Amino acid sequence: MKGLRIFQTVRWKIVVIYILLILIAMQVISAYFIREMERYYVSNFTETLHSHANLLAVNVERYLYSGTGSGSGNGATAGPDEGENNDYRSDINYLVNNFVTLQGAIVQVVDENGIVLSTTEEEKGIVGQKNTRAEVNMALLGTRNEAIKMDPETSQRVKVLAVPVKRGNQVLGAIYMEASMESMYQIMRELNQILATGTGISLLLTVLLGIALSRTITKPVIEITRQATAMAEGDFNRQVHIYSEDEIGKLGQAFNYLTKRLRQALTQNEEEREKLSSVLANMSDGVIATDRDGNIMLINQRAKQLLQLEEEPLQRPLHEVLNLPEHYQPGLENFQGDGSLMIEIPPEGEDKSLIRVTFTSLQGKDQLGKGMIAVLQDVTRQEKLEQERKEFVANVSHELRTPLTTMKSYLEALDEGALEDKNIAPKFIKVVMNETERMIRLVHDLLQLSRLDSKEAKLVRKPVAIKTIIEPVAERFMIQGKQRGLEIELDLTDGNSKVYVDRDSVIQVLDNLMSNAVKYSNDQGKIWVRTKKMNHNWLKVEIEDQGVGIPRRDLARIFERFYRVDKARSRSMGGTGLGLSIAREIVHHHGGNIHIDSKLNKGTRVMFTLPIYRGEQHEK
Ligand code: ADP
Repeated sequence: MKGLRIFQTVRWKIVVIYILLILIAMQVISAYFIREMERYYVSNFTETLHSHANLLAVNVERYLYSGTGSGSGNGATAGPDEGENNDYRSDINYLVNNFVTLQGAIVQVVDENGIVLSTTEEEKGIVGQKNTRAEVNMALLGTRNEAIKMDPETSQRVKVLAVPVKRGNQVLGAIYMEASMESMYQIMRELNQILATGTGISLLLTVLLGIALSRTITKPVIEITRQATAMAEGDFNRQVHIYSEDEIGKLGQAFNYLTKRLRQALTQNEEEREKLSSVLANMSDGVIATDRDGNIMLINQRAKQLLQLEEEPLQRPLHEVLNLPEHYQPGLENFQGDGSLMIEIPPEGEDKSLIRVTFTSLQGKDQLGKGMIAVLQDVTRQEKLEQERKEFVANVSHELRTPLTTMKSYLEALDEGALEDKNIAPKFIKVVMNETERMIRLVHDLLQLSRLDSKEAKLVRKPVAIKTIIEPVAERFMIQGKQRGLEIELDLTDGNSKVYVDRDSVIQVLDNLMSNAVKYSNDQGKIWVRTKKMNHNWLKVEIEDQGVGIPRRDLARIFERFYRVDKARSRSMGGTGLGLSIAREIVHHHGGNIHIDSKLNKGTRVMFTLPIYRGEQHEK
């Protein structure tokens, strides 16, 4: 089969076409040429034969005439005698043998009765015999006659010619000629041979030329084919070699141009795709695209992250991946179009993330056409903030309403006559004043928090030795705690270290923490205030008490605004629920951290860090 396939190539087709062309051309030329040559030779031969026969006839005529005795009609003797008779015969013999120069031709002179008078043949025995050939008979009737016959002995073609010898209208005899045409046909055969050899040589040359020519055509075509195959496999860096400026060369050039353009287009495409994928990969939102059937066609990393997907979601239905009811599947008729909804990831369990999924339908013409784009946003924090804001407003209202209600009821009681009662009136007024103070404190704390939130609170930071801040505060609380038998112990290791802080703010932090320690300590309890350098950059302040402590479950939320373990107790002690929040904000503003450790009924330890003054570095 492989061998046969070779002949199906263009190269061999060209060679075969050439061979056929040459064969046909040579055959036509040969046929025409040989036929013309044959005609020429035959006519030439015939003409020679005729001219010889005519000439002989003219020359023999007078001898035959005299032989018949007719010649004596002009007064000569009545008939030729024996001597004369012999004379004209030898003359005729002489003419027959010398006149006709045709090689191998048989010439006979016959008299009016067809009797052979002379011949060139070896066998002279036929002289005197009658030549009965049809041509001779016809000639004796006055018509010249000729034919081509086949010699039965030699199988050669022989031209036979019989010419009447006439004087006037009287037929005196005939010239009979017989000449072999073989030499002529021999020439024709040789010519044929030459033509055949010529055809053979030209065929050989044609094959060689055909192969060479077809190579010049097929070589670039083969190269272009190889290049096209390489291109199909993604190799666009090859170039076709241009061998000539002809059509095939131009094809090669066009192909190279095509390769270049394709490479450019692909590179551009690739760049676009890279841009798109890097945009998708670096987006803070998750993006999912589906086809018209709602199956996922494209998903970015962020979406996988948000949905906490472990398996590859491609080709899976979007509603299944998002855990949505089936009617959210795009492509179904009951899909309500664009819109958004919230989903929780993971659907069960604690620590859920809240994801907002916004759907937009696609209108493109490509395979994504009529599909969907789902944009996923993590709104957990947003929602939490929103929730906190609502809670905060509710808390503030509540915190203000309580003292206001108390104040209102006391003022009403005073108004209704209690003012007149010298025993009750001062007590009631004291309550109203306390509530007013609490409200002032609350508003003050709220304002401070609001300032810290809005970054309005400008810290006036200066290098201060930490003990100069702690000692006065501690002293104040020592005096306060004395009545309850509280002991405050200072352990100010590295107390001379300078921290780079806003003094008043840090006093506020200490105030809040110390007041908590005092508030939530049992009588006779002990409080420790410690300082220690953690490293070159940070100094730790620690306030520890042996008070009521904080239940474990409340620890995580203890820094939230208005969060209190025991609301009634806190309130009765004049707490606003904002002390720890304010402390945390201030510490954070200084770049430090605050942490609380506590064991219920054992005590609480609050630690926070402050930046150590690093000289010029901080001044800058
Ligand atoms: P409050 O004005 O109520 O003290 P804080 O923000 O200072 O508000 O404290 C929040 C809550 O944390 C308090 O209500 C209290 O329940 C708890 N808490 C704070 N410090 C201590 C402490 N040293 N010991 C026990 N509980 C504390």
